[in-house]
Amino acid sequence: MGKSVPATPGHPPLFADRAFQIVTALMTINVFAFLLQEHVGRLWPSPVNWLLVIAVIIPTTALCRRVGTDPASAPAVRRYWRTAEVGTVLFIVVISLRILSELGAGTWFLPASVVLHVIAGLVLTWPLVGLPFSARDRARKVGVWLDLGTLSGAAGLLIWHFVASEQFIGGQVTLPRVVAAVVIMGAGLNLVYLGAKVVLAGVETFARRGLYWIGASALIGALGSAISFLHPYQPQGNLLVLVLPFAAYAAAVGARVQVVETATQARRAPRGYSLMPYVAIATVDAMVVYHNVWDTGDGLLIDGVAVVLTALVVIRQLIAFRQNDALLARIGLQEKRFRHEATHDALTGLANRTLFNERVTAAANDAGPDELVSIVLIDLDDFKIVNDTLGHATGDALLVHVAERMQAAVRSADTVARLGGDEFAILFKGVEGTDVEGTLTRIAAALLAPALIDGEPMTVRASFGVVDGRSGDDAGDLMRRADIAMYEAKERGEGGYERYQPGMETRGAERSRRAAALRAAILEDQLVVFFQPVVTLPDGRITGAEALVRWQHPIEGLLGPGAFIDVAEQTGLIVPLGTWVLRAATREAASWPGELTVAVNVSARQLGDAGFPAVVAAALRESGLPPHRLTVEITESVAVGGGATTENLQGLRDLGVRLSLDDFGTGASTLSLLATCPVHQIKLDRSFIPDGGSDAIADAVLRMARAFALEAVAEGVETAEQAARLTRLGYERAQGFHFARPMSAAALRERLETAAAVAAR
Ligand code: C2E
Ligand code: MG
Ligand code: MG
Repeated sequence: MGKSVPATPGHPPLFADRAFQIVTALMTINVFAFLLQEHVGRLWPSPVNWLLVIAVIIPTTALCRRVGTDPASAPAVRRYWRTAEVGTVLFIVVISLRILSELGAGTWFLPASVVLHVIAGLVLTWPLVGLPFSARDRARKVGVWLDLGTLSGAAGLLIWHFVASEQFIGGQVTLPRVVAAVVIMGAGLNLVYLGAKVVLAGVETFARRGLYWIGASALIGALGSAISFLHPYQPQGNLLVLVLPFAAYAAAVGARVQVVETATQARRAPRGYSLMPYVAIATVDAMVVYHNVWDTGDGLLIDGVAVVLTALVVIRQLIAFRQNDALLARIGLQEKRFRHEATHDALTGLANRTLFNERVTAAANDAGPDELVSIVLIDLDDFKIVNDTLGHATGDALLVHVAERMQAAVRSADTVARLGGDEFAILFKGVEGTDVEGTLTRIAAALLAPALIDGEPMTVRASFGVVDGRSGDDAGDLMRRADIAMYEAKERGEGGYERYQPGMETRGAERSRRAAALRAAILEDQLVVFFQPVVTLPDGRITGAEALVRWQHPIEGLLGPGAFIDVAEQTGLIVPLGTWVLRAATREAASWPGELTVAVNVSARQLGDAGFPAVVAAALRESGLPPHRLTVEITESVAVGGGATTENLQGLRDLGVRLSLDDFGTGASTLSLLATCPVHQIKLDRSFIPDGGSDAIADAVLRMARAFALEAVAEGVETAEQAARLTRLGYERAQGFHFARPMSAAALRERLETAAAVAAR
C-alpha cells in the first residue's frame, strides 16, 4: 500500500497517492453504508460497521507514517506525525475491543475501550499543545494571550450555556453531574485552546492547511465522541461509526497536505492576525441579544462575559495600534534613510552625483534673470598614487578630509558633492565670480595645509574648473563645460584653476586627438630615441649619453618631448611610452664600447607603479646591459612621491642601477631631499649655468654634491665660455649643445667610432 501515483512535476496534487485514494474510497463507502442503514434499517451485524471504520483508519495510519518518515520534513513535523501514527493504531485497538465486546467476549472490553479511546484522543491532540505561538516580541505575546482569553471566554460561555449547565437543570445537583459538567467544560476549553494554537501558531515547518485539517480531526473526534458518550444513538449501534471515519479522514487529508506542501516547498509565513477573537465577540454579542429577547437564563453571566471580552478586545486593539504606530514611525525613518542613501555619498556624507545634478537643474531653472549660478568641478591631483601606494583606507581618509575642508569653506546654502572617485563639485548660488574665486583659493589653501591623514602627513593639490550659468541653462551642458575647464586646469599644471571659456572644447578635443595619435604611435613604432652625449671637463671625452625621446610624426615631422610628454602623463600613456624608451635605450647602450653609461628619464607615474623595478630588471636582462651602466633620471617632484616610489627607488638601487636627480635646484625641497633620497648623481639645471653673471649657485651645488659624495653634471652647456667657467669651478661632467646636440643612435655610434679611432692613433 502507499505507492505514489506519478504527479505533475512542481505541484503534486492531493489525490496523486494510492493510500489517499483508497482512504477516500473507503470513506465514501462508509458514509453510504451509514445513510443506507439510516433509511432501510440494519442490513448487517454491527461488527461489520466497526470493521469498515478500521478499514478507513488503516490507510490513514499509512499516510501518517509517510510524513513521520519523510526526510524532507522538519524534525518537529516528523515527530508529530509519528505520535499521530501511534494514536491511529490505538484507535484500531479501541475499535477491536468494541467488536470483541459486542461479540460478547467479556464485560470489561467496553470500559477498556472507552478508557483507551480517551487515551488515544489525548495522544493525537497532545503534540498540538507544543506548537509555538507566532509571537516574536512581548507585545505580540500579550496579544496572543488576549486573543486566547477572548476565545476561551466565548467558548466557555457557549459550552456552559448550551451543554454543561444542562447538568444542573431541575435542581438535581449530584456529584456525577458536577463531574460531568467539569469534564465537559475542561474538554471544551482544551479544544478551544488547541484550535487557537492551530490558528495562531507561527510554525513555519508545518503546513498551515495541514494543521487546519489536524484541528478539524481533533474537533470532530472529540465532539463526536463526547456526544456519542452522552447520547447513545441506536439504529446501527453507535454514532462513532460515522464520527471516527470522518476524524480519521480529516487526519489523512492533513498528512497529505503536509507531504504535498513539503514537496512543493510552499512558503508558510506566520499569520499576522486572526479573525477568531472577533468571531468570538460577535457570538457573545449575539447571545446578549438572544437572552435579552427570549430571557433564557444565565443573563448576568452572559452580560458579564460580554463586558470582559469586550475589554480584552479593546486592550488587544490598543496594543495593536501602538505597534502600528511604532511600525509606521520606523517605516518613515527608513524611508528617510533610503532617500538619504540614494542621494548622498556613503563615504563622505556629501551629496552624490544624482542630488548634485538635481540641484544644478533646480538652480538653473529657478535663477532670476540676473542671478548667478556657478558650478565648480574639482579633481584631486595624484590621488591615484595615494590610493595605489598607501592603500584604500588612507585614500578614503584623504577623501573624507578633503570633503570636510571643502564643506567648511562654503556657505550652508552652497552644495558640495562628491561625484565619484576623487572628483568633487560645488554649486554656488547668487555668488559673485570674484567671491567664488576667493572661496576656491581658500579651499586650495586649506587642502595644501599639511594634515595627518591615517597617520601620514599629507598635503592635497586639486584642479578646479569653473563655469557660470544663467537662468535657463541646461544642467548637463553646465556640467560638461565645468569638466572641460577642469581638464584645462589640470593640463596647465598641478593645483590649477580655470574658468570655462567658449572654445575650450576644441582645445580639449585637440588634446584627446593627440592622446589617441600618441597611443597609435607607440604601437606603430613612430617613436625614436635620441642620445645626447655626456662628456668630461675639460677634455670633452664621452662617458655616456642621455636618452631623449622623439616622435617621428607622419605629418608634423620630428616632435620633441615638449609636444607630447604632458599628454602622455595625463593619460597614463607615459607608462608604456617610458617602458618602450627604457628597452630601446638599454638595447642600444649594450652595443656601446667600454663602460659608457646611458641615462633614461622616468616620470612620477612610472615610479609610482609597484612593478617598476621589475620592468627595469627585465630591460637589463633582455639587453644584456650591466646594471651599473644604466642611470635612471628622476625629477624632484618624483622623488617626494612617497609610498611605492620610495620602495621603488630602493629596489632600483638594489638592482645596481644608478640614480640621478634631474633639473637639480628647480624644485622646492632640494636640500632635505638629498638627505632622504639616496641618489648617485645630481644634474645642475641649465638655468644655473654661469653665463656672464654670478656663478654662486653652480659653485654651491658642486660643494654640496661633494659633501654628499655625489657626482655632479652640468646640463645645458651652450658655449665654450660656460664650459671654461664650469671647469674652473671644478665640474668634471657636462652635457649641452656646446659638446653635442641630441642625435640619432646611428649618429652617436659613428661619433663613438671616430673617437675610438682618434684615441687609437
Ligand atoms: P631633461 O631630462 O632635462 O633633458 C634635457 C633637455 O635639455 C633635453 O630636451 C635636451 O635636448 C635639452 N638640452 C640639452 N642641452 C641643451 C642646451 O645646451 N641648451 C638647451 N636650451 N637645451 C639643451 P628635450 O629632449 O626636449 O627633453 C625635454 C624633457 O623631456 C627632458 O628634460 C625630460 O624631462 C623629458 N623627457 C625626454 N625624454 C623622456 C622620456 O623618455 N621619458 C620621460 N619621462 N621624459 C622624457
Ligand atoms: Mg633628463
Ligand atoms: Mg634636465
